[in-house]
Amino acid sequence: GRGAAMVTAVALRLAALRREVNEVLAPLRLSRADLEKVQALMREEMERGLGKETNATASVRMLPTYVSHTPDGTERGDFLALDLGGTNFRVLVVRVTEEGITMASEIYVIPVSIMQGTGEALFDHIIDCIIDFQTKQNLVTDMLPLGFTFSFPCQQMGLDKALLLTWTKGFSASGCVGQDVVQLLRDAARRMQVVALVNDTVGTMMACGYDDPKCEIGLIVGTGTNACYMEEMRNMGTVEGDQGRMCINMEWGAFGDNGCLDHLFTHFDQVVDQSTINPGKQRFEKLISGMYLGEIVRQILMAMTEKHLLFQGKLSSKLQTKNIFQTKFLSTIELSNGLALRQIQAILNELEIEASFEDSVLLREVCQTVSLRAAQLCAAGLAAVVEKMRENQGLEQLSVTVGVDGTLYKLHPCFSTNLQNTLKDLAPNCNVSFMPSEDGSGKGAALVAAVASRAANAME
Ligand code: BGC
Ligand code: MG
Repeated sequence: GRGAAMVTAVALRLAALRREVNEVLAPLRLSRADLEKVQALMREEMERGLGKETNATASVRMLPTYVSHTPDGTERGDFLALDLGGTNFRVLVVRVTEEGITMASEIYVIPVSIMQGTGEALFDHIIDCIIDFQTKQNLVTDMLPLGFTFSFPCQQMGLDKALLLTWTKGFSASGCVGQDVVQLLRDAARRMQVVALVNDTVGTMMACGYDDPKCEIGLIVGTGTNACYMEEMRNMGTVEGDQGRMCINMEWGAFGDNGCLDHLFTHFDQVVDQSTINPGKQRFEKLISGMYLGEIVRQILMAMTEKHLLFQGKLSSKLQTKNIFQTKFLSTIELSNGLALRQIQAILNELEIEASFEDSVLLREVCQTVSLRAAQLCAAGLAAVVEKMRENQGLEQLSVTVGVDGTLYKLHPCFSTNLQNTLKDLAPNCNVSFMPSEDGSGKGAALVAAVASRAANAME
């Protein structure tokens, strides 16, 4: 009778909605073959980045770091460490003794006006923070050797010479690109004894390497994303010498900037890229890291609302505001199951959206799709790295540890599991452990500074 007809009508409408939802999300869902292709492309770009003749055309720059060993436990001393590169700036004092590493630190905010102002103002601000820290820690008279974790791509000519290649993430301070960052710091404060600059991936690898000698990879999935690993000198056409090894800062965030990932980008990715301060740049990073995932989700939600798949087709003006959908919302939303869907409601209320139960469920599906893709792409990149290391060492089976840091990896409820499962699948001959780092940037910078100051003292 009429009841049955109505049930059929509802079922048909649900099936139609499902079809439309799938259509929107399909380009974001990657098959095993898609991921294998990303892995193969990453491997190709790595080889190009390592080659002397091909380096200039590679999107993955494979930058030499002049770090040639992971820690051996004999590092000693007191150091000042700086950590610049995400949303905050940190100053630390790090003591490395026979008994282990201890440290004290302060966090300072870098206002957007300074991130995007002049280089002079940025480095003056850094110095002000250091002075404040030294006063608080009673260190004013100390002249500690300083290690600088600087989380941007630099062409290094040594541990203490590093030309900034380009800013990434939210930074654009003028007058810095092409300059030696160590020199900029020295110019801002003459008395400072800067001995080493490291990328955050390298700092993380070193910090974890202090506790686990198998740690030969560093990974960051936070505001941005990047990886480093120990490479054989004989494979590096860009640095003199064939003996031993050197850590390579891959700068994999720029993977795809030469067009090799164009087949992967969705309409949503294009829109997000175009709205950043560096369109066309850091394309891989913009699929993976915390600075961008919320924006991708927001674009999808807007498209779905326009198609009347969500929120009864009503677009709140809040939802049309850039960066309103924070990446930490993804964590909360994906964590909530069943009853906890109420937390989703709280987020939606904040966005001035009236949502039904079905809306909340669909919202969660969107977040899961975006964060799963991010984790899988990250795994495809790592699979290329561990497979290369396995071949380098001529092993059937490689056992290696990845030191890892970053808010997305550490705080998202499924990112790390999705990453590890996909990696196992793509690199079955590699046994990869993940070691979350604690204060890796600070510790790592101090450990590299220890090696650098030991070398300097040996030469005196
Ligand atoms: C930078 C890298 C850095 C990564 C993680 C990227 O945007 O280019 O140097 O390691 O972010 O902080
Ligand atoms: Mg950091």
